[in-house]
Amino acid sequence: MKLNQAEQLLAAFVPFFPQATGIGSYVGGRLLPGAGELISLQNPANGQATLQYADADASVVQAAVEAAATAQAAWWKLTHAARGRIVFAVGNKIREHAEALAQLEALSAGKPIRDCRGEVGKVAEMFEYYGGWADKFYGDVIPVPSTHLNYTRREPVGTVLQVTPWNAPLFTCGWQVAPAIAMGNAVLLKPSELTPFTSLALASLAEQAGVPVGLINVLAGYGHTVGQAAIDNKAIKKVVFVGSPQTGKKIAEAAAKRLLPCVLELGGKSANIVFEDADLKRACLGAQAAIFSSAGQSCVAGSRLLVQRSVYDRFVAMLVDGAAQIKVGQPLNDQTEVGPISNRKQYDHVMNMIADGVKAGARLATGEQPAAEEGFFVRPTVLADVSNDMGVARTEIFGPVVVAIPFDTEEEAIRIANDSDFGLAGAVWTNDIGRGHRVAASINAGTFWINAYKTINVTSPFGGYNQSGYGRSSGVEALYEYTHTKSVWVETAQAPVATFGYA
Ligand code: NAD
Repeated sequence: MKLNQAEQLLAAFVPFFPQATGIGSYVGGRLLPGAGELISLQNPANGQATLQYADADASVVQAAVEAAATAQAAWWKLTHAARGRIVFAVGNKIREHAEALAQLEALSAGKPIRDCRGEVGKVAEMFEYYGGWADKFYGDVIPVPSTHLNYTRREPVGTVLQVTPWNAPLFTCGWQVAPAIAMGNAVLLKPSELTPFTSLALASLAEQAGVPVGLINVLAGYGHTVGQAAIDNKAIKKVVFVGSPQTGKKIAEAAAKRLLPCVLELGGKSANIVFEDADLKRACLGAQAAIFSSAGQSCVAGSRLLVQRSVYDRFVAMLVDGAAQIKVGQPLNDQTEVGPISNRKQYDHVMNMIADGVKAGARLATGEQPAAEEGFFVRPTVLADVSNDMGVARTEIFGPVVVAIPFDTEEEAIRIANDSDFGLAGAVWTNDIGRGHRVAASINAGTFWINAYKTINVTSPFGGYNQSGYGRSSGVEALYEYTHTKSVWVETAQAPVATFGYA
């Protein structure tokens, strides 16, 4: 019997929740149906309707913060080593269910299955990495100029809200949940209303690995309803947001009203700079991976390609050639390199941006898109002869569309690269090692590659400059975001002298 779209998605979800007949929020170890407006999902690969589920509201948030408080108190009582072992075990659990998680992600987000398999491995690595940190991130003893012993403690923030986007649902979930719980916090995670499935699955797997029930709660619903209700809930002590700058601003404003600290991981318009002395073949493969992988729905996408004028025409021709060979297809096909755009709204935005670019004078070097089939597919697209002041060079397109801009000198390349509201990532391709380091030091971006693109790892810090956000994720830096430092003073003198000043 052939399953319909909704049944297929549910069938991929049920291995994680055997009793489930639909989806809802995951609170205190239970799947809670919402009571709000119905949210309708579409399969990005064919545009057909799949599941519907009801939005959550403030009552679900309240239940979640209560479950979180109880779980966090028990979690923080464990030794650091015991907590670390459980966090590490979450990684094992993810590896045990790797294929089912990858299938669920591919089906719900429209991401190619081979990308999903890679991301599941990276998410397991996040729990393994931060599990290892649990008993290795601690305070100092400070040689204060008095008779006191002064030491610092790293303490959990408490219950944190994490809000994540649809382009990398499982990746961004693991990315934020792993360091948060490793440091002793509880979590309310609000995934995109379009892609809650793998976050729900991960929360359930974590409990199977020994994480206390209620430590990780997932709110299934819209940002302006249940997301906003969570920001307004007094039990939330910090907000970590991964998403667009527009929503980031709203969240920072709402958080500021409660003096809630935030980490904002936002969008980008990263410059990928190719000099004439680079290995152009490698640079071309790198440029394709930079923008076309994940159908360009990647915050670090190399969406502005800056090419030295002497090799510009040749390089653009190589890129167009490469783009034509990329296998665009169904997410569940092993051979697919680029899948559909994840949702209708984003598809419309990408198509409008291409049209705007052409209207502004850009050359559509890859030719017209094939007539729209079913699904939200966009073929890898190169817009050539773009200037950095055109809308397509300034706005995040978040699709498989690269704008190619010529430059003459190193100074000009740096100036154009930095002439952006964003500052998330960037790269330079050159065989001149001095130039590589000079350019890396001159670009305003949180991540930069020399003769590479898109290699990121949980061990290395990540975050933005400018409108790409603030705060840092990954690496040891994430641990500072998820802890408070407490300074403890102990008098060691036998007969302390009372002092009303500062010693
Ligand atoms: P988005 O900003 O539309 O939504 C992100 C999340 O915010 C969703 O869960 C959404 O429901 C929620 N939200 C929306 N309004 C809200 C509100 N008023 N209160 C609380 N929550 C609210 O982003 P998107 O379209 O899902 O994702 C694409 C964007 O994410 C791109 O800009 C991309 O660059 C960015 N991104 C950044 C990183 C990074 O690490 N810097 C990683 C992935 C994606």
